[in-house]
Amino acid sequence: MIDVDRLTKRYGDVAAVRDVTFRCEPGTVTGFLGPNGAGKSTTMRMICGLTPPSSGSATVRGVPYRRIANPGRHVGVLLDPAAQHAGRTGREVLALTAQVTGMPKERAGELLALVGLSEKAAGRRVGGYSLGMRQRLGLAQALVGDPAVLILDEPANGLDPEGIHWMRGLLRGFADRGGTVLLSSHLLLEVEAVADRFVVIAGGRVAARGTKQELLAAP
Ligand code: ADP
Ligand code: ADP
Repeated sequence: MIDVDRLTKRYGDVAAVRDVTFRCEPGTVTGFLGPNGAGKSTTMRMICGLTPPSSGSATVRGVPYRRIANPGRHVGVLLDPAAQHAGRTGREVLALTAQVTGMPKERAGELLALVGLSEKAAGRRVGGYSLGMRQRLGLAQALVGDPAVLILDEPANGLDPEGIHWMRGLLRGFADRGGTVLLSSHLLLEVEAVADRFVVIAGGRVAARGTKQELLAAP
């Protein structure tokens, strides 16, 4: 579903990502773990065609992300919940996303409820949102096209423990219905209860890979 093959990204002399290879399968949550600066965002941006790799390649559902027609219907992406459209309300932002992906506009209301944004919050301008609210809205945008794959970069940032618990349930439900999830975090605690497999990255390289049992058994 997501196939990453020897992805490498150099910025000048610095290799932000080196020879990163892994695969994410349907029905599973893959936890992409590593400290800040390890190369997680750069890898995810390359998977989504936003950063050109220096070498290597990545495909989602068998093709490079950029070749997917109407990607929002197939792949939900949450990379950087920057306050885009800061002057619009959450409801407007989501209605636009629904429109762009060709989903009925009622879908926006359903998703606002699903991600726990209240009517009141949905009516406020995104520029005034907390990080946690932007994450919830970003997740709603990622889900609005009913995708089979989710690529989420540090979605738990800014969520309180209850919010993290809620998101775990949502992602588990998504994977249990056959979805593919790639979920990054710098905190093992955030992902260990939801991820089936882990890819650990450090200094731009894959340091370990496997189930929790496999990682604990590794020398
Ligand atoms: P993570 O998401 O794991 O925190 P990043 O992928 O953001 O890590 O960063 C990996 C490394 O690449 C870091 O050393 C970061 O400073 C560097 N880096 C990321 N983007 C750029 C860029 N546009 N120009 C130069 N260096 C970058
Ligand atoms: P239940 O099984 O309790 O009736 P749902 O099947 O509606 O609940 O949702 C279970 C989980 O699946 C939710 O927490 C949410 O993660 C996710 N989910 C539900 N509906 C959607 C949807 N339309 N798109 C994506 N994820 C969904």
